Amino acid sequence: MIKRRTTGDLIVISGPSGAGKGTIVQELLKDSSSLYLSISMTSRPKRDYETDGKEYYFVSKEEFEERISNGEFLEYTCYNENYYGTLKSELVDNLKRGKNVILEIEIEGALNVKKLVPEAIFIFIVPPTMKELLTRLRKRGTEDNDKIISRFKTAYKEINEISKYNYVVVNDELNEAVSNIEAILKSEKLRVDRIEDIEVGNEEELVHEFLLSDKEMQNKEELI
Ligand code: ADP
Ligand code: 5GP
Repeated sequence: MIKRRTTGDLIVISGPSGAGKGTIVQELLKDSSSLYLSISMTSRPKRDYETDGKEYYFVSKEEFEERISNGEFLEYTCYNENYYGTLKSELVDNLKRGKNVILEIEIEGALNVKKLVPEAIFIFIVPPTMKELLTRLRKRGTEDNDKIISRFKTAYKEINEISKYNYVVVNDELNEAVSNIEAILKSEKLRVDRIEDIEVGNEEELVHEFLLSDKEMQNKEELI
């Protein structure tokens, strides 16, 4: 009766570095085959544990700039002196095929996506406390102290932008944060603006059918 839009949702996840975005997204991907994590392109150097084409497409600054002039990005930004961008090619086919596409991107990029795709779902992840954020950044061990402090200071500015998002999820206990996001994604599918058509059938015909079948029932009862 209710016919809903079957194209996928665009889900934008942001939050301070170290809040646990990457960890949460990996858990979400384990639980759902309809989710696709968009692979961004970056000019930042690859970390030892990363693989080209898995975490990012790693390219030189020059190649990134060439792709900007070719119009290949939905959005891009310069973060800590490196380019990061969302490739249009990562989104279009996946959304058409009904995949829900996740963009794990920083705030400036997210706000640019909001201008272009206002119906996307914007989720902001925060740590339970700022002290815990610092602990997580240190424990992850992927940046030196200077970079940790720079990311930590950026986090204070980022948190001021929460109100531009649709949802805020606290990543204290990981499983709870993951199930809260799953709940958000499930509810979003039920929004009335996803309805494309409502087929209720012809009122007169349905009443006529009902009365006929009622008469048949009465006749049968009388025979018994
Ligand atoms: P982000 O992608 O936001 O930069 P990560 O996913 O890399 O953050 O997480 C930062 C660090 O915090 C990692 O070492 C990760 O294992 C840890 N972490 C993530 N979520 C939690 C959590 N709920 N409780 C404790 N540690 C967490
Ligand atoms: P990292 O260097 O830690 O992998 O990422 C640094 C920041 O860049 C993170 O906040 C991450 O979410 C963001 N980021 C990753 N890909 C993109 C992208 O395509 N566009 C934008 N705007 N930010 C991105």
